[in-house]
Amino acid sequence: MLRFPHDAHTHTTYSDGIGEIAENIAAAEEKGLRLLGITDHSHYFEPGTLSRYVREVRYWGEDAGLTILAGVEGNITAGGVDVPDFMAEKLDYVIASVHEWLERPEEYVELVKLALEDDNVDVIGHFGASFPYIGFPSADGLEEILELAEKNGKAFEISSRYRVPDIDFIRECIRRGIKLTFASDAHYPPAVGSVSWSEKVFRKAGGKKEDLLFGEFL
Ligand SMILES: [Zn+2]
Ligand SMILES: [Zn+2]
Repeated sequence: MLRFPHDAHTHTTYSDGIGEIAENIAAAEEKGLRLLGITDHSHYFEPGTLSRYVREVRYWGEDAGLTILAGVEGNITAGGVDVPDFMAEKLDYVIASVHEWLERPEEYVELVKLALEDDNVDVIGHFGASFPYIGFPSADGLEEILELAEKNGKAFEISSRYRVPDIDFIRECIRRGIKLTFASDAHYPPAVGSVSWSEKVFRKAGGKKEDLLFGEFL
């Protein structure tokens, strides 16, 4: 049983997930979560579908047995994060993640810095998922990231899917007051709430409820 039962990163049929919003919520209720985020990929939305998406999340969230939030997962590219104002305004929060293939960790750091400077972004998704393949950034690069996140009030998710960030990074977030969330990154309902790795590393790093972005709901 989780002490901080929440999952702030799940996908549905509004992007590349295979479950309906209602099915993700039912799975979250079954697992005893207290908060669930529906966060489909930003590039699947146009203004019309975004409104329908948010309406549907609110509809199913209304009498759910837990808090349901509407978000998206945006893409960080060299041109910035693909979450325009009209989108962010309708949502409870925005995750921004690097999805493109990069050659060097320095490029990754530069992209994440763009997201940390973007007012529409709340959470950095699966930070460092590709480091085992492209290499790890320097201590200075990580320091820049942490300083910027602290200054601009951005959070990081702890991704059970990719098992990132590492515990040292999470400890630094906690020490600096940078908030954290748990993320399954589920693309089908049975994986909703699969965040035990997130909680394990968070608690090993000394994390408390007040270190979680959505701690007030838990
Ligand atoms: Zn992602
Ligand atoms: Zn995702």
